[in-house]
Amino acid sequence: MNRKTHILVVEDEAHLAFGIRFNLEAEGYRVSTAADGNTALQILSADADPVDLVVLDLMLPGMSGYDVCSRLRQNGLQIPVLMLSARSLPEDRIRGFDVGADQYLNKPFELSELISRVRHLLQRFQSAAAVPRPTGPSTVSVNGRKVDIATYRIGDDDDGGRLTALEMRLLRYFLDHPQRVIPKSELLEQVWEQSPQLQTRAPDQFILRLRKLFEDDPSQPQHFLTIRDAGYRYVP
Ligand code: CA
Repeated sequence: MNRKTHILVVEDEAHLAFGIRFNLEAEGYRVSTAADGNTALQILSADADPVDLVVLDLMLPGMSGYDVCSRLRQNGLQIPVLMLSARSLPEDRIRGFDVGADQYLNKPFELSELISRVRHLLQRFQSAAAVPRPTGPSTVSVNGRKVDIATYRIGDDDDGGRLTALEMRLLRYFLDHPQRVIPKSELLEQVWEQSPQLQTRAPDQFILRLRKLFEDDPSQPQHFLTIRDAGYRYVP
């Protein structure tokens, strides 16, 4: 297959959009641009020309980057989202993660940094979504509920819902480290790729979501445990 990787850049500052586009095209990507959220969502909903990754500015006229991100997740799109922000408040980051952003990059940034994040996100996503080896399992099981490794779908039909890419990444990290008490700082580093010192409740919120999806009684978790002052533990 020869299709070029298609990247959508959502940025209202024309000179910046141009610079990002120019540099991504130089790397061999095909780039679409949108200056506002509505245009972005239109491009994203065109099934004939799927987008593989979104570079999404937070501060946009009208609909914010948060809203665009949460809408595209609601529409079932699992593609990686790299959010750009002129603000660097930790709350912004957390909110970004909550609406399903995969990565955060603070403005101003070096274009080389943006390119390397894009490449990394695409690799990570493609390897996560890659068709599993014939010998390997294509699903994992959590408390008797199946999760498709490639599509992130829970159960056998769409009624069970889907995980976001980041939720899948967290879930796999737990599955790879059963029974071990995992400090929050380790999750921030390994799953969120953030500084372990970052003050955020993002992991707690994601654990709540995993409980809601997989625990029989989310208020009495048996599998996704919080270990006070230590971290979290996954019990198969
Ligand atoms: Ca902007």
